[in-house]
Amino acid sequence: MPITKEIVTEEAKRLGFDIAGFTKADLLDYEFQALENWLWQNYNSGMIYMERNLEKRRDVKQILPEAKSIISLGMNYYTDVQHQGNISSGKISRYAWGKDYHLIIWEKLDELIGSLKKLDVTFDAKSFVDTGPVMDKAWAVRAGIGWMGKHSNIINRQLGSWIFLATLITNYDFDFNEPIQNYCGNCTKCIDACPTNAIVEDYVVDSNKCISYLTIENKGEIPVEFEGKFNGWMFGCDICQDVCPWNKKFATEAANQDFQPRKGNVEINLEEVLNMSQDEFDERFFDSPVSRAKLKGLKRNAEFLLRTINIPESKDEEHS
Ligand code: SF4
Ligand code: SF4
Repeated sequence: MPITKEIVTEEAKRLGFDIAGFTKADLLDYEFQALENWLWQNYNSGMIYMERNLEKRRDVKQILPEAKSIISLGMNYYTDVQHQGNISSGKISRYAWGKDYHLIIWEKLDELIGSLKKLDVTFDAKSFVDTGPVMDKAWAVRAGIGWMGKHSNIINRQLGSWIFLATLITNYDFDFNEPIQNYCGNCTKCIDACPTNAIVEDYVVDSNKCISYLTIENKGEIPVEFEGKFNGWMFGCDICQDVCPWNKKFATEAANQDFQPRKGNVEINLEEVLNMSQDEFDERFFDSPVSRAKLKGLKRNAEFLLRTINIPESKDEEHS
């Protein structure tokens, strides 16, 4: 039985995805140029892996030679819980409050591909969830999932930007969606609110300055120039998404209960982190995105916040 866009969308929704978009598996051109410019400026900082497999990022046929279409999927992870901003605690980014989204989404993608193969044995697909050399955001824009906000996250008109993206490269022809309009307009709230001025121009984030990078992927020390500028963020940073009018208006509770915050994971007492043993860390975060920072990284972040806790500078509070 031939697989249609409607069948894929219905099956994806049954599995818990909120949005599905379809586009042709063409070469990425201006998006790839933007990536090259970003790398050229060293905005990837220590994320050297972003410099690898560039040809695959540009041309998905290097991953699946028979590639014809891309299916872009989005899953809402917003929960109606807010940070309290307790000064003795470090804030955790919203995406990391519950179970690791990779584990949730990989399982659902396997199921989706399995059920599509049952309909047509010739169907083939490679799936990615922000891992591997695939430009998920570029495909999401092309597939009409949303537009890229000036903070460089994808914004969907119905859900805002609290969405995880997944990308399927398939050997199948589907009816394609058109990209949607960019609705950022004259707004600059995310740029104005960023406490480290990491959004260096519209749609461009310099990871060297981004709290999200500095507290998670960064393996070194946090530069002293950022002392007093983290606004209590210990793992990731949500400021630019928190202030976005599209999130303020459209964020809705996620259906998947695995995204609900686990006890004590919205913000964590800094002293508690400093005293945490490796066994405690492993037990608490074994299937959580927080494990990415490792205990060493989390302690570095807690120490950094404790060192600067008394320096009052808070663009975040002004704008949120
Ligand atoms: S995540 Fe935080 S530090 Fe990074 S660009 Fe957004 S507001 Fe700035
Ligand atoms: S805060 Fe404004 S400029 Fe930034 S992503 Fe949202 S709508 Fe666009």
